Amino acid sequence: MLTSLSGRVAIVTGASRGIGRGIARVFAAQGARVLVVARSAERAQPVVDEIVARGGVASAFAADVVDPAAQEAMARAAAERYGGLDVLCANAGVFPSSPLAEMTPAQWDEVLDANLKGTFLSVSACLPELKRRGKGRIVVISSITGPMTAYPGWSHYAASKAGQLGFVRAAALELSPFGITVNAVLPGNIATESVEALGEEYSRQMLASIPARRLGTVEDIAYAASFLASDEASFITGQTLVVDGGQTLPETPAALAMLQG
Ligand code: NAP
Repeated sequence: MLTSLSGRVAIVTGASRGIGRGIARVFAAQGARVLVVARSAERAQPVVDEIVARGGVASAFAADVVDPAAQEAMARAAAERYGGLDVLCANAGVFPSSPLAEMTPAQWDEVLDANLKGTFLSVSACLPELKRRGKGRIVVISSITGPMTAYPGWSHYAASKAGQLGFVRAAALELSPFGITVNAVLPGNIATESVEALGEEYSRQMLASIPARRLGTVEDIAYAASFLASDEASFITGQTLVVDGGQTLPETPAALAMLQG
């Protein structure tokens, strides 16, 4: 194995389904002890059961990323249950759609709070435990949407995901002296329940725009996250890793069409 998380303690936020569930499973398969976090412990528990059934170590914890006290309790729980904290994967996020002309300040706040402020809150809550270790890994799950591309109805989401990258760079700089790296994975379109809920037409459109001719799997993102969480990635910080099957590569629609000919 190129990299391993053997013996590490990891928190994965938003791990009750989708990409976070995939990250929790892969981290555990690589030997990490994983705190599986979602707003409800009942929804996180089936992921824990899956990991334990495969011989891994995990437990569920309920914490909303927008609640500072809950985030602090989450970091404490990892330390109490597993003796410390090595890795935070800030994955929790929401992507409701609203055209800009109809968007209310409350809709804007909901997305910016969960995706951007939630990233800040989970990172800052985990800092004391990560610093105690003298090294640490923070992996933020951003998106191609915002940093690289755009889609109608997601101006709040795009702003939150681009904002995460500014945060990643500044945090990486500040935390370098503590041996803590901060990096982001930028997923393209990944087959999760929430993406399926966007409808068949959305998935069809996305499939047609991905040179690799498939949507990503949650494992595609999890392996990228596990590399950035590994010891081997200790000199990589403030960086982004795009995992999109080539979706952001074609310069023109014609360049993509040439592949289909
Ligand atoms: P998902 O299937 O909807 O899962 C979202 C997870 O976040 C769930 O476990 C949910 O758990 C949790 N969550 C939501 N709000 C939360 C909050 N306030 N506090 C704590 N947990 C919260 O989404 P996904 O498709 O896996 O996406 C995961 C991440 O990847 C997001 O940050 C998303 O922006 C990013 N991403 C996804 C794609 C994609 O194609 N799927 C592409 C680019 C980026 P509970 O509801 O149980 O709390």
